[in-house]
Amino acid sequence: MKSEVSLELQKDLARHLRAGHPWVFRKALARAPRGLAAGTIVDVEEQGRFVARGYYDPHSAISVRILTREPAEAIDGAFWHRRLARAAALRAELVRGTSGYRLVHGESDGLPGVVVDRYAGFAVLKLYSAGLTPHRAAIVEAVQAAAPGLRGVYGRDEIPHDEEDEEAAPLGRVLAGEEPPERIAIEEHGMRLLVDVRRGQKTGLFLDQRENRRLVRELAAGRAEALNCFSYTGGFSVAAALGGSTHVVSVDVDPEAIALARENFRENGLDPADHAFATEDAFELLARYKREGRRFDLVVCDPPAFAKSQKAVEAAVAGYASLNRAALSVLAPGGLLVTASCSARVSAEQFYDAVKEAAFKVRVDLQLVEERRQPPDHPVSPQFREGRYLKCLVYRRVK
Ligand code: SAH
Repeated sequence: MKSEVSLELQKDLARHLRAGHPWVFRKALARAPRGLAAGTIVDVEEQGRFVARGYYDPHSAISVRILTREPAEAIDGAFWHRRLARAAALRAELVRGTSGYRLVHGESDGLPGVVVDRYAGFAVLKLYSAGLTPHRAAIVEAVQAAAPGLRGVYGRDEIPHDEEDEEAAPLGRVLAGEEPPERIAIEEHGMRLLVDVRRGQKTGLFLDQRENRRLVRELAAGRAEALNCFSYTGGFSVAAALGGSTHVVSVDVDPEAIALARENFRENGLDPADHAFATEDAFELLARYKREGRRFDLVVCDPPAFAKSQKAVEAAVAGYASLNRAALSVLAPGGLLVTASCSARVSAEQFYDAVKEAAFKVRVDLQLVEERRQPPDHPVSPQFREGRYLKCLVYRRVK
């Protein structure tokens, strides 16, 4: 079943699509289509031969995001249902011990531009392309069918838009069922976390760090003083406190995140008054602690992505080196540094090198004792290396 619109590829650009890469850049098209509406289902062809089928986005440098390589597969309601069911099956098989997980991880789940995070009885849908908005209702229906027991689906798009265009501004709204409560509580490996799906960052929580939060809980035994830089709502902080740290400092520039971090302590039977919370730039706090000679037995460092574009990679690597240098300056001998990078463009090798340089500059000896990537609800398609973004390393300071 052919789509009504076919777009011809530039010579020799079909190979990576046939292999499974999900993006067709505007410059990969022989002729840019004119006046084609966002969301139109198009066939991408090479010399008139079908290569793949996807949705069109006139506003993005990625003109077409691929949905299928099967010429007979139509993009209809049943298509979205099949894709959602496939995504749900992976989670049912492999995700354990949590009521908060990513149900759909975009490209790597065969649903480019679509993210769905589930928090107990609610799902949050994030669309990253204008080409998806005409398909929103079908996607919401498929989410409800694939995730039984949902009380509601909340929508928070992240579609790049013209600042002037208020209509296109990211909207938060109920797409199906009930309005979510102010805070949704999830259980994550025996820890309770409150999530604000309306005002929180991304969809409300950084679910990709779940297994690393659990690791920190284990590592915190006997490590009294802990520091969590870029704490957001205190996931790693609560984990450290539950695991044995008796004094945890959480620092983040976002005051709402810090307020929720305090609530998360209470939610887990911990008194926030025993710990410290700072709404501050983490770099400034680290510099001050260094001057004051403060030392920690456990330091967690999980900053936002430093490299938003390919050009920014070098600066990002330098940024990781200087951040980790500051973190190592407050790490006690025998202490542990848990350091993460979520920049897809910074490779694991580049990240190791940044920490190596930091250790050299501060003159501390380190031992790498654990390396982590993404949990199974953030799968990676081998054809889509961009999806393999998270690195989390644990180092022990020898002396
Ligand atoms: N570790 C967290 C997620 C961190 S996301 C978790 O497990 O939930 C990155 C956080 O860094 C965001 O909360 C953001 O508000 C914060 N941030 C960004 N720039 C910062 C800065 N310069 N100083 C402190 N926090 C910052």
